[in-house]
Amino acid sequence: MAIWNLGSINADMVYALPHLPAPGETLAANGLDRFLGGKGANMSVAVARAGARVNHIGAVGSDGRWARDRLTEYGVDTRYIAEVEVPTGHAIIAVDAQGENLIVLYPGANHALDVRQLGQALASANTGDLLVMQNETNAQVEAARLGHELGLTVCYAAAPFQAQAVQAVLPYLDFLILNEVEAEQLQQETGLSAADIPVRHVIVTLGSKGARYLQQGCEPVDFAAHKVQAIDTTGAGDTFTGYVLAGMDRGMPMEQAILQANRAAALMVTRHGTADVIPDLREVRDAQFD
Ligand code: AMP
Repeated sequence: MAIWNLGSINADMVYALPHLPAPGETLAANGLDRFLGGKGANMSVAVARAGARVNHIGAVGSDGRWARDRLTEYGVDTRYIAEVEVPTGHAIIAVDAQGENLIVLYPGANHALDVRQLGQALASANTGDLLVMQNETNAQVEAARLGHELGLTVCYAAAPFQAQAVQAVLPYLDFLILNEVEAEQLQQETGLSAADIPVRHVIVTLGSKGARYLQQGCEPVDFAAHKVQAIDTTGAGDTFTGYVLAGMDRGMPMEQAILQANRAAALMVTRHGTADVIPDLREVRDAQFD
Protein backbone atom coordinates (compact mmCIF):
# COMPACT_ATOMS: atom_id res chain seq x y z
CA MET A 1 0.00 0.00 0.00
CA ALA A 2 1.03 3.61 -0.35
CA ILE A 3 0.00 7.01 0.89
CA TRP A 4 -0.76 9.88 -1.48
CA ASN A 5 -0.58 13.34 0.04
CA LEU A 6 -1.99 16.33 -1.84
CA GLY A 7 -0.26 18.92 0.28
CA SER A 8 1.27 22.35 0.65
CA ILE A 9 5.00 23.03 0.58
CA ASN A 10 6.19 26.27 2.16
CA ALA A 11 9.43 28.03 2.84
CA ASP A 12 9.19 29.38 6.39
CA MET A 13 11.41 32.51 6.40
CA VAL A 14 12.05 33.51 10.00
CA TYR A 15 13.45 37.03 10.47
CA ALA A 16 14.87 38.01 13.87
CA LEU A 17 13.98 41.65 14.58
CA PRO A 18 14.65 43.99 17.52
CA HIS A 19 10.91 44.78 17.58
CA LEU A 20 7.92 44.20 15.30
CA PRO A 21 7.74 46.89 12.60
CA ALA A 22 5.14 49.66 12.79
CA PRO A 23 3.21 50.63 9.59
CA GLY A 24 5.59 52.50 7.29
CA GLU A 25 8.70 51.52 9.26
CA THR A 26 11.76 50.01 7.56
CA LEU A 27 13.63 47.70 9.87
CA ALA A 28 16.84 45.71 9.41
CA ALA A 29 16.69 42.09 10.58
CA ASN A 30 19.42 40.65 12.79
CA GLY A 31 19.18 37.25 11.18
CA LEU A 32 17.30 34.98 8.80
CA ASP A 33 16.57 31.25 8.99
CA ARG A 34 14.83 29.28 6.28
CA PHE A 35 12.91 26.12 7.17
CA LEU A 36 10.82 23.62 5.25
CA GLY A 37 7.17 24.05 6.24
CA GLY A 38 3.58 23.83 5.15
CA LYS A 39 1.13 21.36 6.68
CA GLY A 40 1.37 19.11 3.64
CA ALA A 41 5.17 18.88 3.72
CA ASN A 42 5.15 18.33 7.49
CA MET A 43 2.68 15.48 7.10
CA SER A 44 4.68 13.81 4.33
CA VAL A 45 7.84 14.00 6.44
CA ALA A 46 5.96 12.51 9.42
CA VAL A 47 4.68 9.61 7.30
CA ALA A 48 8.18 8.95 5.93
CA ARG A 49 9.74 9.20 9.41
CA ALA A 50 7.16 6.68 10.60
CA GLY A 51 8.52 4.30 7.96
CA ALA A 52 5.72 4.33 5.37
CA ARG A 53 5.81 5.13 1.65
CA VAL A 54 4.44 8.53 0.76
CA ASN A 55 3.97 10.20 -2.62
CA HIS A 56 3.66 13.95 -2.26
CA ILE A 57 1.44 15.66 -4.86
CA GLY A 58 1.99 19.41 -4.96
CA ALA A 59 3.73 22.32 -6.62
CA VAL A 60 6.68 24.63 -6.07
CA GLY A 61 8.15 27.48 -8.12
CA SER A 62 11.70 27.48 -9.51
CA ASP A 63 12.72 29.02 -6.16
CA GLY A 64 11.53 25.89 -4.33
CA ARG A 65 13.78 23.17 -5.72
CA TRP A 66 15.61 23.03 -2.39
CA ALA A 67 12.31 22.21 -0.63
CA ARG A 68 11.63 19.36 -3.04
CA ASP A 69 15.20 18.11 -2.54
CA ARG A 70 14.78 18.30 1.24
CA LEU A 71 11.61 16.20 1.03
CA THR A 72 13.47 13.65 -1.11
CA GLU A 73 16.26 13.51 1.52
CA TYR A 74 13.63 12.75 4.15
CA GLY A 75 12.40 9.78 2.13
CA VAL A 76 9.34 11.33 0.49
CA ASP A 77 8.62 10.41 -3.14
CA THR A 78 8.65 13.78 -4.90
CA ARG A 79 8.09 12.78 -8.53
CA TYR A 80 4.54 14.28 -8.44
CA ILE A 81 5.69 17.68 -7.21
CA ALA A 82 5.40 19.98 -10.24
CA GLU A 83 7.46 23.07 -10.88
CA VAL A 84 5.12 25.91 -11.86
CA GLU A 85 5.61 29.52 -12.92
CA VAL A 86 4.44 30.92 -9.59
CA PRO A 87 6.73 31.47 -6.59
CA THR A 88 6.86 28.74 -3.95
CA GLY A 89 4.43 29.24 -1.08
CA HIS A 90 6.08 30.94 1.82
CA ALA A 91 5.56 32.38 5.26
CA ILE A 92 7.38 35.57 6.24
CA ILE A 93 7.68 35.24 9.99
CA ALA A 94 8.97 38.25 11.94
CA VAL A 95 9.98 37.47 15.51
CA ASP A 96 11.00 40.12 18.05
CA ALA A 97 13.35 39.75 21.01
CA GLN A 98 10.44 38.73 23.28
CA GLY A 99 9.31 36.00 20.89
CA GLU A 100 6.20 37.89 19.69
CA ASN A 101 5.63 37.29 16.00
CA LEU A 102 3.72 38.40 12.95
CA ILE A 103 3.26 36.23 9.91
CA VAL A 104 2.55 36.97 6.26
CA LEU A 105 1.46 33.87 4.36
CA TYR A 106 1.72 33.66 0.57
CA PRO A 107 0.16 30.46 -0.85
CA GLY A 108 1.84 30.88 -4.27
CA ALA A 109 2.47 27.56 -6.02
CA ASN A 110 0.31 25.70 -3.49
CA HIS A 111 -2.73 27.16 -5.25
CA ALA A 112 -1.41 26.62 -8.78
CA LEU A 113 -1.59 22.85 -9.05
CA ASP A 114 -2.92 21.64 -12.41
CA VAL A 115 -5.85 19.27 -11.82
CA ARG A 116 -4.68 17.13 -14.76
CA GLN A 117 -1.46 16.49 -12.87
CA LEU A 118 -3.49 15.22 -9.95
CA GLY A 119 -5.24 12.76 -12.27
CA GLN A 120 -1.91 11.60 -13.69
CA ALA A 121 -0.50 10.98 -10.22
CA LEU A 122 -3.54 9.11 -8.90
CA ALA A 123 -3.61 6.96 -12.05
CA SER A 124 -0.69 5.12 -10.38
CA ALA A 125 -2.58 4.61 -7.10
CA ASN A 126 -4.01 1.21 -6.17
CA THR A 127 -7.37 0.43 -4.58
CA GLY A 128 -6.96 0.61 -0.81
CA ASP A 129 -4.15 3.19 -0.89
CA LEU A 130 -4.64 6.20 1.38
CA LEU A 131 -5.19 9.70 0.00
CA VAL A 132 -4.80 12.63 2.39
CA MET A 133 -5.40 16.36 1.97
CA GLN A 134 -5.31 19.47 4.11
CA ASN A 135 -6.76 22.91 3.42
CA GLU A 136 -3.66 24.66 2.04
CA THR A 137 -3.87 23.67 -1.65
CA ASN A 138 -6.29 23.97 -4.52
CA ALA A 139 -7.93 20.88 -6.10
CA GLN A 140 -9.05 19.29 -2.81
CA VAL A 141 -12.58 18.53 -3.95
CA GLU A 142 -11.39 17.07 -7.27
CA ALA A 143 -8.88 14.94 -5.37
CA ALA A 144 -11.44 13.71 -2.83
CA ARG A 145 -13.95 12.83 -5.55
CA LEU A 146 -11.35 11.08 -7.70
CA GLY A 147 -9.88 9.23 -4.73
CA HIS A 148 -13.34 8.03 -3.75
CA GLU A 149 -14.08 6.86 -7.31
CA LEU A 150 -10.77 4.98 -7.42
CA GLY A 151 -11.53 3.14 -4.18
CA LEU A 152 -8.85 4.91 -2.13
CA THR A 153 -9.32 5.57 1.58
CA VAL A 154 -9.86 9.34 1.58
CA CYS A 155 -8.58 11.30 4.60
CA TYR A 156 -8.85 15.00 5.35
CA ALA A 157 -7.13 17.13 7.96
CA ALA A 158 -9.42 20.15 8.39
CA ALA A 159 -6.66 22.73 8.81
CA PRO A 160 -6.53 25.66 8.39
CA PHE A 161 -10.24 25.41 9.16
CA GLN A 162 -12.90 26.52 6.69
CA ALA A 163 -16.40 25.12 7.14
CA GLN A 164 -17.12 25.31 3.41
CA ALA A 165 -13.98 23.36 2.54
CA VAL A 166 -14.93 20.59 4.99
CA GLN A 167 -18.51 20.45 3.68
CA ALA A 168 -17.31 20.23 0.06
CA VAL A 169 -15.16 17.12 0.68
CA LEU A 170 -17.36 15.47 3.34
CA PRO A 171 -19.34 13.19 0.97
CA TYR A 172 -16.11 11.52 -0.18
CA LEU A 173 -14.35 11.06 3.17
CA ASP A 174 -13.50 7.87 5.06
CA PHE A 175 -11.48 9.64 7.73
CA LEU A 176 -11.58 13.20 9.12
CA ILE A 177 -9.11 14.60 11.62
CA LEU A 178 -9.53 17.95 13.33
CA ASN A 179 -8.41 19.64 16.51
CA GLU A 180 -10.63 20.79 19.35
CA VAL A 181 -10.97 24.37 18.07
CA GLU A 182 -11.76 23.17 14.55
CA ALA A 183 -14.39 20.75 15.89
CA GLU A 184 -16.00 23.62 17.80
CA GLN A 185 -15.96 25.86 14.69
CA LEU A 186 -17.55 23.08 12.64
CA GLN A 187 -20.35 22.72 15.16
CA GLN A 188 -20.93 26.46 15.36
CA GLU A 189 -20.91 27.02 11.62
CA THR A 190 -22.72 23.89 10.40
CA GLY A 191 -24.49 22.48 13.47
CA LEU A 192 -22.54 19.20 13.12
CA SER A 193 -21.12 17.91 16.40
CA ALA A 194 -18.12 15.56 16.18
CA ALA A 195 -20.36 12.59 17.05
CA ASP A 196 -22.73 13.40 14.17
CA ILE A 197 -20.17 13.84 11.39
CA PRO A 198 -21.19 11.35 8.68
CA VAL A 199 -17.66 9.93 8.22
CA ARG A 200 -16.59 6.40 9.25
CA HIS A 201 -13.54 7.46 11.28
CA VAL A 202 -13.21 10.83 13.03
CA ILE A 203 -10.38 11.87 15.32
CA VAL A 204 -10.48 15.05 17.40
CA THR A 205 -7.05 15.96 18.79
CA LEU A 206 -7.18 17.71 22.15
CA GLY A 207 -3.69 19.18 22.63
CA SER A 208 -2.37 18.41 26.12
CA LYS A 209 -5.55 16.40 26.79
CA GLY A 210 -4.75 13.84 24.07
CA ALA A 211 -7.23 12.70 21.43
CA ARG A 212 -10.72 11.24 20.96
CA TYR A 213 -11.54 8.61 18.36
CA LEU A 214 -15.11 8.40 17.08
CA GLN A 215 -15.93 5.43 14.89
CA GLN A 216 -19.41 5.41 13.38
CA GLY A 217 -21.70 3.14 15.36
CA CYS A 218 -19.26 2.78 18.30
CA GLU A 219 -18.71 4.55 21.61
CA PRO A 220 -15.98 7.25 21.47
CA VAL A 221 -12.55 6.17 22.75
CA ASP A 222 -10.31 8.65 24.61
CA PHE A 223 -6.51 8.64 24.59
CA ALA A 224 -4.72 10.66 27.27
CA ALA A 225 -1.67 12.70 26.18
CA HIS A 226 1.74 11.81 27.60
CA LYS A 227 3.02 14.16 30.28
CA VAL A 228 5.89 16.15 28.79
CA GLN A 229 7.41 19.61 29.06
CA ALA A 230 5.88 21.23 25.96
CA ILE A 231 8.04 23.99 24.49
CA ASP A 232 6.78 24.29 20.90
CA THR A 233 3.50 22.80 19.67
CA THR A 234 3.93 23.74 15.99
CA GLY A 235 3.77 20.63 13.81
CA ALA A 236 2.34 18.44 16.60
CA GLY A 237 -0.97 17.97 14.79
CA ASP A 238 0.77 17.20 11.46
CA THR A 239 3.06 14.69 13.20
CA PHE A 240 0.06 13.05 14.87
CA THR A 241 -1.79 12.74 11.55
CA GLY A 242 1.28 11.44 9.69
CA TYR A 243 1.81 8.72 12.29
CA VAL A 244 -1.88 7.72 12.27
CA LEU A 245 -1.75 7.39 8.46
CA ALA A 246 1.47 5.37 8.57
CA GLY A 247 -0.14 3.02 11.11
CA MET A 248 -3.26 2.63 8.94
CA ASP A 249 -1.01 1.96 5.95
CA ARG A 250 0.69 -0.81 7.91
CA GLY A 251 -2.73 -2.36 8.65
CA MET A 252 -2.69 -1.49 12.37
CA PRO A 253 -6.04 -1.22 14.15
CA MET A 254 -6.88 2.47 14.47
CA GLU A 255 -6.48 2.41 18.28
CA GLN A 256 -2.91 1.15 17.95
CA ALA A 257 -2.09 3.75 15.28
CA ILE A 258 -3.42 6.49 17.60
CA LEU A 259 -1.30 5.23 20.51
CA GLN A 260 1.81 5.54 18.37
CA ALA A 261 0.75 8.94 17.01
CA ASN A 262 0.19 10.17 20.57
CA ARG A 263 3.77 9.18 21.46
CA ALA A 264 5.21 10.82 18.33
CA ALA A 265 3.29 14.07 18.89
CA ALA A 266 4.28 14.18 22.59
CA LEU A 267 7.95 13.95 21.57
CA MET A 268 7.40 16.60 18.91
CA VAL A 269 6.12 19.22 21.40
CA THR A 270 9.38 18.90 23.36
CA ARG A 271 11.34 20.18 20.31
CA HIS A 272 11.70 23.56 18.61
CA GLY A 273 11.04 23.50 14.85
CA THR A 274 8.76 21.67 12.42
CA ALA A 275 9.51 19.29 9.53
CA ASP A 276 13.22 19.05 10.30
CA VAL A 277 12.70 17.72 13.83
CA ILE A 278 9.81 15.25 13.44
CA PRO A 279 10.86 12.11 15.35
CA ASP A 280 11.41 8.80 13.57
CA LEU A 281 9.85 5.48 14.49
CA ARG A 282 12.81 4.31 16.55
CA GLU A 283 12.79 7.46 18.68
CA VAL A 284 9.04 7.09 19.12
CA ARG A 285 9.30 3.45 20.18
CA ASP A 286 12.25 4.14 22.53
CA ALA A 287 10.78 7.25 24.18
CA GLN A 288 10.23 6.95 27.93
CA PHE A 289 7.26 8.85 29.33
CA ASP A 290 6.14 9.24 32.95
P1 AMP B 1 -3.26 19.53 18.85
O1 AMP B 1 -3.13 19.76 17.37
O2 AMP B 1 -2.85 20.69 19.69
O3 AMP B 1 -4.61 19.00 19.24
O4 AMP B 1 -2.20 18.39 19.22
C1 AMP B 1 -2.06 17.21 18.45
C2 AMP B 1 -1.53 16.10 19.31
O5 AMP B 1 -0.24 16.49 19.85
C3 AMP B 1 -2.36 15.77 20.54
O6 AMP B 1 -3.40 14.88 20.19
C4 AMP B 1 -1.32 15.14 21.45
O7 AMP B 1 -1.06 13.81 21.06
C5 AMP B 1 -0.06 15.97 21.14
N1 AMP B 1 0.12 17.11 22.06
C6 AMP B 1 -0.19 18.41 21.84
N2 AMP B 1 0.11 19.18 22.90
C7 AMP B 1 0.64 18.35 23.83
C8 AMP B 1 1.16 18.51 25.16
N3 AMP B 1 1.19 19.72 25.75
N4 AMP B 1 1.62 17.42 25.82
C9 AMP B 1 1.61 16.19 25.22
N5 AMP B 1 1.13 15.97 23.98
C10 AMP B 1 0.65 17.02 23.29
